[in-house]
Amino acid sequence: MRKFKPEIILVGATGLGRDLAGAVATDLATGLTADCTGLDIDDRGFLLQTRPAFGGNIMATILTERTRPQMATVRPHVMSLPAKDSSHTGVVIRESPAIDEVDIAVKMLELIDDRKHGQDVDIAAAEVIVSGGRGMMSKENFKILQELADELGGVVGSSRSAVEAGWMPVERQVGQTGKTVRPKIYIACGISGAIQHLVGMQSSDVIIAINRDKQAPIFEVATYGIVGDLFKIVPAVTDRIKELRTKNEQG
Ligand SMILES: Cc1cc2nc3c(=O)[nH]c(=O)nc-3n(C[C@H](O)[C@H](O)[C@H](O)COP(=O)(O)OP(=O)(O)OC[C@H]3O[C@@H](n4cnc5c(N)ncnc54)[C@H](O)[C@@H]3O)c2cc1C
Repeated sequence: MRKFKPEIILVGATGLGRDLAGAVATDLATGLTADCTGLDIDDRGFLLQTRPAFGGNIMATILTERTRPQMATVRPHVMSLPAKDSSHTGVVIRESPAIDEVDIAVKMLELIDDRKHGQDVDIAAAEVIVSGGRGMMSKENFKILQELADELGGVVGSSRSAVEAGWMPVERQVGQTGKTVRPKIYIACGISGAIQHLVGMQSSDVIIAINRDKQAPIFEVATYGIVGDLFKIVPAVTDRIKELRTKNEQG
């Protein structure tokens, strides 16, 4: 960074990226905006770094006015992949900095795989997610969501309430303090649609909400909304898909 003096540094907010960006910003004594949901450049060349603030209640746009570089991280899947534009050109510079082991303060002693059996599903990469919230009432009831997800070739996600109740592992949590997802289909079952949940899933292509409260905020972002008891609706949808599949296979 000191050699090329870039105006802007963008880093993926992955486990490694978060660690690296924070350390680099500290070393360069510059600002870093983590987990941006929007990036733009204004007329003066400032990077406009937008992210949720105050528990997701407002969107703040942050500028690094006095120091350089301007640094931001963005979580995977937060922004849609634009179409390739060959009119844009640039130069890729590959640097291989020589680092001496004695310069690294941290030593890796052992690599421990903390993925627990059956919990290593990456919901951020799934094309179909069937998510459950507090309305699921118990851990056992998530079985009906798994059945629907299996029919659709998807995975089961959840709200934070379901994680806090111990019904789902934290890796499955969607939202501000969970994962940001952008599947083709997101089915929210018994999830009210708190802003902290919405920021993690509202860019999904199709959102289907099932909730017995027709005033629930989830319906404001839903493509299709079903008002009713999820314990009747979810198994009925699963059965119908099975029926259609059997008919298709026979015909
Ligand atoms: C700093 C901060 C970070 C947060 N981060 C996250 C996050 O990352 N992800 C997240 O999800 N939340 C997050 N939250 C919590 C968030 O504010 C909400 O409390 C949470 O999302 C609510 O979860 P829920 O929708 O499952 O539960 P509830 O809000 O209790 O909603 C349950 C819904 O189920 C419906 N329901 C009940 N029974 C049935 C039934 N039989 N059939 C149909 N519908 C039914 C009800 O009508 C209700 O709408 C965060 C909060 C804070 C303060």
